[in-house]
Amino acid sequence: MVDISAIGTAAHDTALGGSATSDLFQLLRNGRPRTRSELAALTGLARSTVALRIDALLDLGLVGPVGDAVSTGGRPSSQFAITASERVVLGVDVGASHVRVALSDLTGRILGDASPDARVSDGPEAVLDAVTAAGRELLDANGRSDHDLLAIGIGVPGPVEHSTGRPINPPIMPGWHRFDIPEYVGRSFDVPVLVDNDVNVMALGEREHSWPDVDHLLFVKVATGIGSGVISGGLLQRGAQGTAGDIGHVAVARGADVPCQCGNRGCLEALAAGPALARGLRERGVEAVSNADVIELVEHGSLDAIQALRQAGRDLGEVLTACVSLMNPSVIVLGGAMVRAGEHLIAGVREVLYARSMPLATESLQVTHSKAGADAAVLGASMLAIHHALSPQNVEAMVSRVQRA
Ligand SMILES: [Zn+2]
Repeated sequence: MVDISAIGTAAHDTALGGSATSDLFQLLRNGRPRTRSELAALTGLARSTVALRIDALLDLGLVGPVGDAVSTGGRPSSQFAITASERVVLGVDVGASHVRVALSDLTGRILGDASPDARVSDGPEAVLDAVTAAGRELLDANGRSDHDLLAIGIGVPGPVEHSTGRPINPPIMPGWHRFDIPEYVGRSFDVPVLVDNDVNVMALGEREHSWPDVDHLLFVKVATGIGSGVISGGLLQRGAQGTAGDIGHVAVARGADVPCQCGNRGCLEALAAGPALARGLRERGVEAVSNADVIELVEHGSLDAIQALRQAGRDLGEVLTACVSLMNPSVIVLGGAMVRAGEHLIAGVREVLYARSMPLATESLQVTHSKAGADAAVLGASMLAIHHALSPQNVEAMVSRVQRA
């Protein structure tokens, strides 16, 4: 919600410029058209000042006139709103075995996308060269120039130091440790480059796609690993070092003897992620190697595979019970390869979660599967770029560049 009194104060404090233009823009961001008079009343600025700042935002292509100018005989429209389609961002999903690049407008609507032939194991330079080439082609194919591009968001399958955009000891990303992704991509495109881990990015994408009004959402990915993205109070929570939501190595009682690749025993990931399920099935004499093998067995009605997936859901539910106590989410979304095989995993999660949580915490809690599906990461990477590009500081910086020019 916009705190109008605070905006009024900020506007007076910076009567000669400052943050007032971005305040004005933040008022228009929700898409509701406003007149100059309304904006003057809401910000406490003089109408002439509002007019100057609207002109700057018009120059930037961030807002535009709306209304009935043409139908009433060509009189200039007096209402303004955010223009989503003038400027664009690139959202990049670097997965364990795929890369996807999408060009989006400022509402996150995908205008075009490409899947360059690259794998994260090819190393950062090869992957990012493929990404920037695909981005360049998408801009060209959609008639956009570098000037139209505001920012680039990138999700990668490993831990990221968000402030610098560098992956830190990512287990499945050889050669990426401390690689300066923003600097490298910045050689091709002179715009801000935001990097985050894939689960955080999927949480942003899922919320944007399906739960725009939900402020407390936990997105859990169950695939080769297990992790979660935490949205609390409407904001993605990264924690002190960026590891918030890293639930894969929380211990589960049932797994006391099961070793994990992290060196501990009984980790959730060692019990309930795809490779653990495949291993468990092999021990029972059922042929399964990959995540896809397990999914296929479930889809073909293998009782062993269905029971394994349901138990994985219970194990996950045990850890999520603590998460629910801690953050009181209203929605838990399950995504990732292992969730695509029907409701068995979710049923296991619900079974434990509803039995073990306090009634008030689960009264209106929804546990559901991802609706954005394969689009969640690329959509979330776009939102990462959009949130940054349209932040008050960034809008202000763009305005001062226009005014200096
Ligand atoms: Zn572990």
